[in-house]
Amino acid sequence: MNWDTRLIHDGQAPDPLTGAVNVPVYLTSTFAETAPGQAKGYVYSRTGNPTRAALERVLGRLEGGVGSLAFGSGLAATSALLMAYPNGSRIVAGDDLYAGTWRLLQVARTHGVRVDFIDTSDLANVRAALESTPKTDLLYLETPTNPLLKVTDLRGAIALARSRRTRVAVDNTFASPVLQRPLELGADVVVHSTTKYLGGHSDLIGGALVFRSKPLLEKYRWYQNTQGGVPGPLDCFLVLRGIHTMGLRVRAHCANARKVAGFLSKHPRILRTLYPGLPGHPGYDVARRQMDDFGGMVSAEVRGGLAVAKRVVRRLKVFTLAESLGGVESLVNVPALMTHRSVPKELREQQGIRDGLLRFSVGVEDASDLVADLRQALQ
Ligand SMILES: *Cc1c(COP(=O)(O)O)cnc(C)c1O
Repeated sequence: MNWDTRLIHDGQAPDPLTGAVNVPVYLTSTFAETAPGQAKGYVYSRTGNPTRAALERVLGRLEGGVGSLAFGSGLAATSALLMAYPNGSRIVAGDDLYAGTWRLLQVARTHGVRVDFIDTSDLANVRAALESTPKTDLLYLETPTNPLLKVTDLRGAIALARSRRTRVAVDNTFASPVLQRPLELGADVVVHSTTKYLGGHSDLIGGALVFRSKPLLEKYRWYQNTQGGVPGPLDCFLVLRGIHTMGLRVRAHCANARKVAGFLSKHPRILRTLYPGLPGHPGYDVARRQMDDFGGMVSAEVRGGLAVAKRVVRRLKVFTLAESLGGVESLVNVPALMTHRSVPKELREQQGIRDGLLRFSVGVEDASDLVADLRQALQ
């Protein structure tokens, strides 16, 4: 089956009991047992819930994995992932990560995990980092990155990691499984914030880990139950509902982002426009090879720094000034003051996240309204 069909039907047969075409929302914390220790498949909703199980089945299939585990947020998923790395472990991670992931890795450091941040869009850095110590336990990648939209060659990075028996996790939130499937390229774990394109309507917080191998899935099923950061059944239902239209939405996000990026890249008030779909973008060729389209995120730096950035966002009317991304509505964010405020200024600037940078989550409104809004605000 093709994508738009799979998003509606794959792993989503009608409920065998009632024929309901959508999975029921099982709002129950516990399940009656027929005799002590004899349950009908579910015992307690932290351990497992039928609505969550439906979401976990669908996410596993969409990413081409053996299964997935859902969490109460993307960061709860990442924090469960990191539970398997004790004191003395070594993690190599991208240097332009989601800021919450960066914070979590700082916490891992306080637990005695060695974490090195590198620019993974250059494979020479990945090779050097992996070769600099005898053993790296985890390579943690994000591509395209947030907010600089840098692209990492997943096939190349995964090959380097595998040759040194390093596990690879890829945060696939920005691309969504519609555009990029890292497990098919050899990654071991995919991380998602389902809050974004999977949910798609800015009405929930959720996360997931998707696995390529059964033993790893089962190991983390134990961590999921132990850590306990699971989502409620209603949120799982909302993600499943979002998934039905994800193909339509992501196509519209990509088409609109291309137009927004094209407009910004020619505007005299814009210093640089970052979008992997612009032929001048350093990640353009790699993105074309490993993604089915370039996504809905666009960043751009205005001339005049923070003062101008603040004036522009104040004048935007269709773009809402807000954190987050991946919903149907267009959002704009000033990373230096919002999503990346917790990253020290020198570090931010060193990475290229300057004060005048704006990050746009391009929604599915009419593209001409989005461009007109940007035009008037920049004027
Ligand atoms: C939002 C986001 C996260 C964290 O997810 P939450 O659901 O907010 O906890 C992780 N990675 C990326 C790329 C994100 O955009």
